[in-house]
Amino acid sequence: MTPMRRKDEPLYVERIPARVDGADGHRLMVILAAPGCTYWHETGGCTNCAFPVSLVADGPVAPEEYAAQLAVAAKELPADGPVQVDLYVSGSFFNPDEVPLAAQRDLVATAAGWPRVRRVLVESRPEYVDAERLTPALEAAGDCVLDVAIGLESASAEIRDERIHKGFNWRRFEKAAADLAAAGAAMTVYVLLKPLDTGEREAIEDAVATCEAVFALAERLALPTTVALEPCFVPEGTPLYDAFVAGRYSPPRLWSVVEVVERVAHLGAIHVGLSDEGLDAAQVAHNCASCTPVVRGALRSFNRTADVAALAGLDCACREA
Ligand SMILES: [Zn+2]
Repeated sequence: MTPMRRKDEPLYVERIPARVDGADGHRLMVILAAPGCTYWHETGGCTNCAFPVSLVADGPVAPEEYAAQLAVAAKELPADGPVQVDLYVSGSFFNPDEVPLAAQRDLVATAAGWPRVRRVLVESRPEYVDAERLTPALEAAGDCVLDVAIGLESASAEIRDERIHKGFNWRRFEKAAADLAAAGAAMTVYVLLKPLDTGEREAIEDAVATCEAVFALAERLALPTTVALEPCFVPEGTPLYDAFVAGRYSPPRLWSVVEVVERVAHLGAIHVGLSDEGLDAAQVAHNCASCTPVVRGALRSFNRTADVAALAGLDCACREA
């Protein structure tokens, strides 16, 4: 039994140095206390995801409670540079059962109104992304870019459905992207490197193919798009964790992350997820003990500069192993 969570303060706030609109600035990552992913509640969710287990609030969260949470997060605003505010709800921001419509509008308007905020990012499953929900949010964003993050994970139907249990098809994703383009929003797409039951080489090829498909769609729609490449990590309480403990799964090698980035960075904006989620080193992407810190550092500097030169010259005896 998890303890009751307060609904008038966010679960987590972190200020992260980042490039925002091409300049050195910060992301303010705000994890709001929220009811959590409806898809998870109804189906058990995706095979790699444990967020709702650890992060959900107890029952619905009212607009004034969301407003109080954001007021607490505002204390962490950086003093200079452009800012992107990420409003995470461990589910779908545009699902009114998770975030009431009035709260959707108010949260975006409040964050967009803070000094030097240029972008506001929210995340949602594609089935909640449509003109009806986007119009008020875009009005609330004003001059800020509204960036909507969608967890596609893989462009392969077999991998997305059978191995990740994502529960939506490419056509649904494509429709959400078209609605984002028509509305004038931006899109971030999560691509999962090495889902359950996927070998290292297959994982690399799938992530590359997925990035190619996403950037081709973005170009066709003239939709500003970022790929958030997420090397799969292993949280407890997931089918992935069971496979990990049984020796049937290990997280991707950092060399695989480097290969994917080097092969697709010329296609568009890429950001590599490097949070270790506070997990044991064996449960996150890694190489051998001696080069892991070096390669992670190089990927961090790629995130800061968007220049693959940051990855040039990396090598280790473990690379060909
Ligand atoms: Zn090594």
